[in-house]
Amino acid sequence: MQNLLHNLNEEQLAAVTLPAQSALILAGAGSGKTRVLTTRIAWLVQTGQVSPSGILAVTFTNKAAKEMLTRLSAMLPINTRGMWIGTFHGLCNRLLRTHHRDAALPQTFQILDSQDQLSAIKRLLKANNVDDEKFPPKEIMYFINGAKDQGLRADKIDPYNADERKKVELYQLYDDQCQREGVVDFAELLLRTYELLVRNQPLREHYQQRFQHILVDEFQDTNDLQYKWLKLLAGHGTQRGGVVFAVGDDDQSIYAFRGANVGNMSAFEREFNVKNLIKLEQNYRSHGHILDAANILIANNSKRLGKNLRTDAGHGEQVRVYEANSDLSEASWIIEETKNLIHDGASRSEIAVLYRSNAQSRVIEHALFSAGIPYHVYGGLRYFQRAEVKHAIAYLQLMDNPHNDSAFLRVVNFPTRGIGARSLETLQAAAEQYRISLYAAVPYVTGKAGTSLSGFVKLIEGVRFETQQMALPELVRIVLEQSTLLTHYATEKEGADRIENLEQMVSAATQFLSEEGYGQGSPAHLGAQSQAQSGDAIINQDGIEILDADAPLSTVMSPLSAFLSHASLEAGDNQAAASQEAVQMMTVHSAKGLEFNNVFITGLEEGLFPHESSSREHDGVEEERRLMYVAITRARERLYLSFAQTRMLHGQTRYNMKSRFFEELPEESLKWLTPKVQPGWFAAKKSAWDEAPLVGSDKALAQQISSKALAASTGWRLGQSVAHAKFGEGVIVNIEGSGNNARAQINFGSAGMKVLDLSIAKLEKI
Ligand code: ATP
Ligand code: MG
Repeated sequence: MQNLLHNLNEEQLAAVTLPAQSALILAGAGSGKTRVLTTRIAWLVQTGQVSPSGILAVTFTNKAAKEMLTRLSAMLPINTRGMWIGTFHGLCNRLLRTHHRDAALPQTFQILDSQDQLSAIKRLLKANNVDDEKFPPKEIMYFINGAKDQGLRADKIDPYNADERKKVELYQLYDDQCQREGVVDFAELLLRTYELLVRNQPLREHYQQRFQHILVDEFQDTNDLQYKWLKLLAGHGTQRGGVVFAVGDDDQSIYAFRGANVGNMSAFEREFNVKNLIKLEQNYRSHGHILDAANILIANNSKRLGKNLRTDAGHGEQVRVYEANSDLSEASWIIEETKNLIHDGASRSEIAVLYRSNAQSRVIEHALFSAGIPYHVYGGLRYFQRAEVKHAIAYLQLMDNPHNDSAFLRVVNFPTRGIGARSLETLQAAAEQYRISLYAAVPYVTGKAGTSLSGFVKLIEGVRFETQQMALPELVRIVLEQSTLLTHYATEKEGADRIENLEQMVSAATQFLSEEGYGQGSPAHLGAQSQAQSGDAIINQDGIEILDADAPLSTVMSPLSAFLSHASLEAGDNQAAASQEAVQMMTVHSAKGLEFNNVFITGLEEGLFPHESSSREHDGVEEERRLMYVAITRARERLYLSFAQTRMLHGQTRYNMKSRFFEELPEESLKWLTPKVQPGWFAAKKSAWDEAPLVGSDKALAQQISSKALAASTGWRLGQSVAHAKFGEGVIVNIEGSGNNARAQINFGSAGMKVLDLSIAKLEKI
């Protein structure tokens, strides 16, 4: 046990060994919050204060949950399976599977990811003849999810005008549609579980008694419903229930746009009568200059609970700052620096490239690829979201729950089997009329359409019958073949990759079985079979004895159902690629909780980071600043910041000013690799720009300052008047690159600003 505790400082030790009372550990980045939380679990179990099944730990991502389990297994000589460690969604999924009857769900209910949810909403709007210009599907989705995140059902919302009344009505219709199809979205997982526990006293009391210790990481990002959920499970206001140990950092609250409420921290302190508020102020992650940068930046925020961070690690290197002419040159600089780092012995997986929006990654990916440097992009298109994989998943979903209309529509005519839009309209009308699923409505369609639709139903039934006794990987293989997905892609020009992805599903299934403790041979379709129990029996409200939703999953879900939830809930990041020696690329949001020796924060430009949407939102810039704080504090030893004067995003060239965050960082911690533009000049320009929208001449001036030298080498000069066959007359505003790669930015007046390739565009000097 000494081993467990000897790696902790005094405050950490105090936190880990607190008595069983609710506690809040409020501390900055890298101060060991996650380490404290994990060690506390081990300590509680090892000292016999609680059995593994009395632990409930909530993490923010599946990745974090896995890591915590791995660490615990290393610390504890016992099987950690009995512990419940996961995300809110993962834990709710497990509860709902076990108590599906009480929650009024089919055991094989399926989970809609946000892509599926959006298409379900589009379908609903269409079926109800709603004008999707007036009520854009995305807006409806945000409305529904926002309401659910606050724990509100449609009948609890009091609409304040006609438009909102319509939205509330659509919310209700959407919920009815999901119920009919046996599907739940992410927010529903939580709300349904919450309602189940509120309604069902024996269940509630059972879990309140069971979970003696509830531990929550990244508490600052819980939303209202999650907080209510925790309160309920912890038996707040009752004699029953465990204690909550929450760790968080108000400065890292970055999910307000998804309903996170940092106010939950003070609410928790008050409502749980927290006597133990521990602050950790020693930072173990970052060198001095990096930490100074983070501390001084975040001091610009007004609403803070207040805390500080210090380090013993020494100043270390200064933060390097680079100003690039364009996104392309920013990328080449990253490549050069990356090569230097690797040359100096850095491991590639200890180099992270962070950006504010996913759209920024493409240029950097391309540059890394061309330079032959292996990289891994997190949260890009995840494996389970690729079109071909989604198709295969849809077939599997139909095996388990043919009433999932989204899945049905996705593949009923894919690969094509002559079922046209007309036939589907007839089918949809029948389903509407009898209020049944599309699958169930097939027998009501006659004629040629009826014949082809029945053919599809026969295919699904046939495969289901054929695979009755098969194990999951075999089932997947048969589905890939019988659905003719494999042969379909074999005829496609670029189908090889897709086929490879599809075939990977067989190994994904095999790997899944072993990770989740299913026998490799257990039949994919069978439901809750062996009921090895460690928890107590619960008698539900109808006096029926039911299972405790204890691990392993195999007691509550068939391998197929479990695999399908995994596909919706897991990031689905390709683990093999992630663990390989590769440069790590991700958004700042997904870097939360992680750390790397070397970190690049790219695209530090006004409008991008801070993001332009932030100026519209209350507290927007402060949230962006917290995001920047998260980004900076991911770095251990070396931090690089960069921005570009021009950037192609979403098909448009943008002209950018450097981020205001540069003005908020301590000058002595920064090392400018490119000459820093005079602060006076910048401030004057900035106020001029703030007043007037950016127009040609101002931008031209900004460009000239740094690109004069480059221009000289190309034979063209800044300010040169030129003529172009299509755009007419213009003036060269900026030139970058050299030789065949030289590009000019030209102001063509009414035809607008264009960036043209000098070796291709036929320009005449005039
Ligand atoms: P974040 O706010 O970014 O989630 P955190 O507060 O959760 O950070 P951890 O990730 O737990 O911080 O710890 C940061 C780093 O410091 C880790 O590498 C951890 O192993 C290390 N660390 C924490 N406490 C100590 C300690 N007492 N001695 C040595 N290293 C420590
Ligand atoms: Mg952490």
